[in-house]
Amino acid sequence: MVNFVGAGPGAADLITLRGKELLEKADIIIYAGSLVNKELLQYAKSDAEIYNSAYMTLEEVIATIQKAEAVHKETVRLHTGDPSLYGAIKEQMDELDRLGISYKVCPGVSSFSGAAAALSLEYTLPDVSQTVIISRMEGRTPVPPGEKLRKLAKHKSTMVLFLSSGLAKETKEELLLGGYDTTTPVAVVYKASWPEEKVVRGTLSELDTLMEQNNITKTALIIVGDVLDSEYEKSRLYAADFSTEYRKATK
Ligand code: SAH
Repeated sequence: MVNFVGAGPGAADLITLRGKELLEKADIIIYAGSLVNKELLQYAKSDAEIYNSAYMTLEEVIATIQKAEAVHKETVRLHTGDPSLYGAIKEQMDELDRLGISYKVCPGVSSFSGAAAALSLEYTLPDVSQTVIISRMEGRTPVPPGEKLRKLAKHKSTMVLFLSSGLAKETKEELLLGGYDTTTPVAVVYKASWPEEKVVRGTLSELDTLMEQNNITKTALIIVGDVLDSEYEKSRLYAADFSTEYRKATK
């Protein structure tokens, strides 16, 4: 049995209880060493075999799992944040399907939630934006034509960009071409929830300079949108004149 486990954004206590229990029971742990906090490996059994997938190919990861399965050992494949976002888990699951190896996924706290917490931010404010677009600037990994940043930017919703901090200038240009104003608020969160977390705020026109000044070129999220700094309508859910399944309107 293989468990794909979300490690959370960084801080070791942001893994889920279920994820921690799976780590404690695992015979084999294959962790994404480039971003997963090594402190999490403290939860491993003393005789667990531990592999860093940063040094491995897909074939090597699968071969390691196959070897463990042959002797009925439990594997945890530990991915950063939540495995469903830019986790490259589908290609692993497809291989496991082909080999008849069963697996499950344990969700994790994505860095996009970690970044909102660092900013004390609500991504969805009534009247400002009720939509969060999660995407990335096109880099070595191509992006489908309908999802170029300039197209997504047309919505002027809240946007959270992964894997784009090495391309700050291009990101800024695409967002401006799409229609965000130069004064649209932006924030960059570097290593959300890690001790070295850094938060930078400014406007879209300053995005690349701010990142350069703060030496942020990786492990960061770029957040764009008026929710970062805006007047908004209070939610209807808690309004006195709004009845819900649990509460009658009092006004
Ligand atoms: N599955 C992960 C994302 C993996 S892609 C998740 O849910 O968070 C790797 C990218 O995620 C990085 O390039 C960076 O953009 C972002 N990232 C991962 N951890 C981060 C953190 N602690 N703070 C800010 N960005 C982070």
